[in-house]
Amino acid sequence: MAYVALYRQWRPQDFDNLIGQEPISTTLKNAIVTGKIGHAYLFAGPRGTGKTSTAKILAKALNCADGPTDKPCNRCVNCERINAGTSMDVFEIDAASNRGIDEIRDLREAVRFAPVDARYKVYIIDEVHMLTTEAFNALLKTLEEPPAHVVFVLATTEPHKIPATIHSRCQRYDFRRIAVAEIERRLTDVAEKSGLTVESEALHMIAVHADGGLRDALSILDQCTAMNEGMIAADSVRSLLGLVGHEWVWKLMDAAADKDAASVMLLLDELIALGKDVRQILLELALHGRSLMLYKAVPDFDGVAYSEDQDVLASQSAKFTYDEIIGLIQTFQAAANEVKWAAEPRITLEIALLDICRREGTESIAGLLKRIKALEEAAKAMPPVNMVRVARSEAETPQPKVHTPEPEFDKPKVSAPLNSGTSEEVWDAVLKDLVASGKRSVHACLAQGHIAALNDSQVTVQFTSVFAKERSEKEDYRNIIEKILARILGQQVKLNCILAAASSGMVEKSAPAKADPKEGGVHPALDAAIKIFGGRAIKEEKNEEE
Ligand SMILES: [Zn+2]
Repeated sequence: MAYVALYRQWRPQDFDNLIGQEPISTTLKNAIVTGKIGHAYLFAGPRGTGKTSTAKILAKALNCADGPTDKPCNRCVNCERINAGTSMDVFEIDAASNRGIDEIRDLREAVRFAPVDARYKVYIIDEVHMLTTEAFNALLKTLEEPPAHVVFVLATTEPHKIPATIHSRCQRYDFRRIAVAEIERRLTDVAEKSGLTVESEALHMIAVHADGGLRDALSILDQCTAMNEGMIAADSVRSLLGLVGHEWVWKLMDAAADKDAASVMLLLDELIALGKDVRQILLELALHGRSLMLYKAVPDFDGVAYSEDQDVLASQSAKFTYDEIIGLIQTFQAAANEVKWAAEPRITLEIALLDICRREGTESIAGLLKRIKALEEAAKAMPPVNMVRVARSEAETPQPKVHTPEPEFDKPKVSAPLNSGTSEEVWDAVLKDLVASGKRSVHACLAQGHIAALNDSQVTVQFTSVFAKERSEKEDYRNIIEKILARILGQQVKLNCILAAASSGMVEKSAPAKADPKEGGVHPALDAAIKIFGGRAIKEEKNEEE
């Protein structure tokens, strides 16, 4: 006897065995029992969720010798013929291969004749959205005046492509994706009844991978039985599905947690050589990141990471801060989106992992905010300083980090007395945030600049490239950058982009400190300093160098 695929063998034969579509089976059973049978049904939903099976059960329910009944017997001639696909009154049309008007025209002629040996003629049109416009128009004519003995079941995965004129003449039923647990239960049942030995982890993997479609799940199980004799192990399912697997993900994350970039690269090399898909690697890394996040947030909550080793989660989550874990999940997800369009997906994966290896020095934004707050508090607590004296001579200054207004070749002026370390940290945090949120093109532009001046209303960023400068100040990029700056600095600031000139003179001119101190009183740098440190200017001395 020819081999019958599992999904055919285990196709549900009545409404009670329809998996995961209880609301639909209940409604249809009621319609049959009360005799309220529609002339046209639209079954919409993802592939493998039971649309065609339901259509056949409906056909049997209508035509069973005991019927119409909500419990077709599956033994009478009519039921048997429908199950075998030999009924003269039940027609299955695959619109994907018969898109033409001829089939529908034939159908229009044929529907007029009474059924051969059943009560109803049932037309099941699969993938009905594939019909041509002409075929739809012909179908519409039939649906407008359907003979009493005809029932149409239109099945589709893309209901939005059905013309409204057709749609409005159908009773619509939406088939939902079947839950992983339900698929798993069904797989266990089928495996048991078919005498298959399958590891439970293998069944779980198949159920997850089937993405809500029972037919797909059974087909995968079928493939596994063809590849394996005896026991079906999780490993063989993993290789069949191209999954990466926990061990690899753990090793990669271990290396990244230890900032061991060399090991990360070697592991990646091996994985790629094994033929693993870059996107799949990223997805599994992101899922593992989620386990780490949940473990970190609620370590004693049972069942959070049921498929992950607790020891691994404990040791790895200890190596990251909570914010770093969030950052790495975002990095993996952004990269997974990006690889769809990447010319060389592997590079995207490498950037993501190396980003995580290099996380030191680029502190979490929350941590940075805390430090900036602490700095501000410390600054406020300091006694008022004679700013003029600070500005005049570095030798006399007890805080050497405060910038003097003397122009320097490589360090443009900072208009506020935030030290240069702080503006570098702010800039690092901005760049890091852009990477983490997947704004890589913005990042590419901004990486070419640095903060030239920072005060509490404006951040001046200096570029050497005209393109990077002009692109960064366009509204879309500006909005993104200003939002990130506001988050990091804890207040709204304006982005001011300037171009570095070849000479230091231009830098000086473009910096906000260009206002002449003689006009309008206080020097802007001094003004900003007073705003942050408090106090007042006692006397302003002329800068010798100018
Ligand atoms: Zn029957």
